[in-house]
Amino acid sequence: MTMTTSQANTEVAVIGTGTMGSPIARNLHKAGFEVTVWNRSAAKAAPLSADGVALASSLADAVSNARVVVTVLKDADAVLEVLQAAGKSLRPGTVLVQISTVGVDGIARIAEFAKSQGLRLIDAPVQGTKGPAEKAQLVILASGAEDDRGVVDPLFDAIGQKTLWVADEPGEASKLKVVVNSFISALTHGIAEAVRLAEALEVDVEDFQRAILGGPLVSPFSSIKLNAIMNQQFTPSFTVDNAIKDSQLVVEAAENVKVWLPVADAGLKRYRAAAAAGHGGEDMAASYFAENTVAGSHYAS
Ligand code: NAP
Repeated sequence: MTMTTSQANTEVAVIGTGTMGSPIARNLHKAGFEVTVWNRSAAKAAPLSADGVALASSLADAVSNARVVVTVLKDADAVLEVLQAAGKSLRPGTVLVQISTVGVDGIARIAEFAKSQGLRLIDAPVQGTKGPAEKAQLVILASGAEDDRGVVDPLFDAIGQKTLWVADEPGEASKLKVVVNSFISALTHGIAEAVRLAEALEVDVEDFQRAILGGPLVSPFSSIKLNAIMNQQFTPSFTVDNAIKDSQLVVEAAENVKVWLPVADAGLKRYRAAAAAGHGGEDMAASYFAENTVAGSHYAS
């Protein structure tokens, strides 16, 4: 990729170097941006220095010279905590690219804070897990002022395969992300429950796989999750604990607009049950391990 003058001059601070933040920072650096990273636990940011990414000695150090600050943190509370801690080091006029999945209420709180500090917020949750993030193949769902798109589009090109601008107002992209997540949850639990039912009915799970393989029912995503369950391989692309957070955002959003989503409610219960059974740090496909522990239920095991 050829570096443009504007990329070389764009100082970008990536705040949060977890599963997603690390490859995002690495790909921005590879594309020629001047990237500085900060992570609450410094040890998680340290490996990036081998790739030539600058490690900030403090949060203030990371953001004070940045033209663009990218947040890739757990949730809205973490984002607000960090932004507040950054205080005056975060100069008015800085473009804040908010990538974390924070939900409808969360992005509203962040937008209010950004407005009060004169930050130019781009709401930019992403689709795609660890693998796509590493390969710069994320899909960026974006909303924010048209004037700022020239600054952030080159960043999005460096981390993703596609940017979908949905509105001029921050918040609309996070709404779309919640919609996408309700679909992802249904797919994941659908596969997990089909396998559990097959096992209980003594149907060969490979027959289930053969029955759907190659047909319109199988997506690459559901295939990956089915293979994960069949191979009992739950190295996380997206953890059950994070899926609980995302499912809560779906359920809360639905409650606020009074739409009945019993599948989303049940999905949240499955993830919580899987976490209670010790699978919180595993991939979301570990929904498979969910057991109904409600006392007296005829199907509790
Ligand atoms: P992760 O690996 O669990 O990393 C979470 C990051 O948030 C870490 O850097 C963590 O810092 C930081 N953090 C948490 N609480 C904090 C706080 N109170 N103050 C400061 N930092 C805090 O998560 P991830 O998978 O990278 O996901 C990051 C965001 O992207 C989440 O909103 C997630 O829903 C979203 N997302 C993830 C995926 C995926 O497949 N992984 C896909 C799409 C969207 P420490 O290292 O110090 O704990």
